[in-house]
Amino acid sequence: MSAAPLTPSVTAARIWKLLRGIFGNELPVAIDLEVVRELLNQPAFGKGASLKKPIAFDAENFEGALVRNEDRHEEWGIFYKPRPKCPERERFTIAHEFGHFVLHREGRGRFQCDKAGITSGQDDDRNIEREANAFASQLLMPRDDLDKLLGEHRKVTFHLLSDIARTFQVSFEALCLRFIEITDQRAILIRWDNGFLDYERRSSSARRTRAGYKIPGKTQEPVAGSIAADASAIQCFDGEMQSAALWCAEEAPHMKLREFKHTYVDRDRVISLLLLESAEPRSWDRSWKDEDSFDSFDQFVSNGQFPVR
Ligand SMILES: [Zn+2]
Repeated sequence: MSAAPLTPSVTAARIWKLLRGIFGNELPVAIDLEVVRELLNQPAFGKGASLKKPIAFDAENFEGALVRNEDRHEEWGIFYKPRPKCPERERFTIAHEFGHFVLHREGRGRFQCDKAGITSGQDDDRNIEREANAFASQLLMPRDDLDKLLGEHRKVTFHLLSDIARTFQVSFEALCLRFIEITDQRAILIRWDNGFLDYERRSSSARRTRAGYKIPGKTQEPVAGSIAADASAIQCFDGEMQSAALWCAEEAPHMKLREFKHTYVDRDRVISLLLLESAEPRSWDRSWKDEDSFDSFDQFVSNGQFPVR
């Protein structure tokens, strides 16, 4: 029988399965990356390779790297940008480099991960960055645990999502992106940089029902009348009811959504979450299937994510 291909999700699930087999219920929800590193040095993952302890390294335009030792080819080192105020970002970077180690190291001896290098890189580079991010996201926020934490509470709010982010020791934004990826609800996450739409991520049911705000190729600001557009509303963690049509032109007038807002400390970045009432899929429309799937790339390249405190 041939082994399953090493996709990010298969690999992350395999690591969790092995860890649960070893540690049982004593395993903390926020996974200990040193324990993962030791596991990655076992023959099942690290055959012919040895992954050393991650080392902090600071340089401009640098987030993390996985590098093979030129003199001892079996040795691999991880370097990560120190972020003393944001240890959850260090965790994500290290988990991302773990992803390159398990998924990509056969292909090359050096992975340097920074925003400029990634965005100007070849398609192949971008794909492996996406894969490393998907791996990190699934390793740090396994679906079962996230479902359980969400399931204990009927109502999703930014309070709940920030509590769960703390539980997993991930950034608030990384958790919100993971929530969008797994939720059954119609949900839209938008990040604004200096008042303009930077990216929009939609849950699968939002895409199926064509609910969205972003217009490709257009520079967009928050819609007038929204909480996002209200400069006096710095945070809106409980959410506020809005007409869904305010944000999503194709929504029926009676449909509602709940809008949440988080403004980061330096005020230049805002995260909006829109949770829409459920609706029937628009089955005649297939365009949502062509859309890029969830892009966890942004989890890695979005710098300066302050944890919600
Ligand atoms: Zn990378």
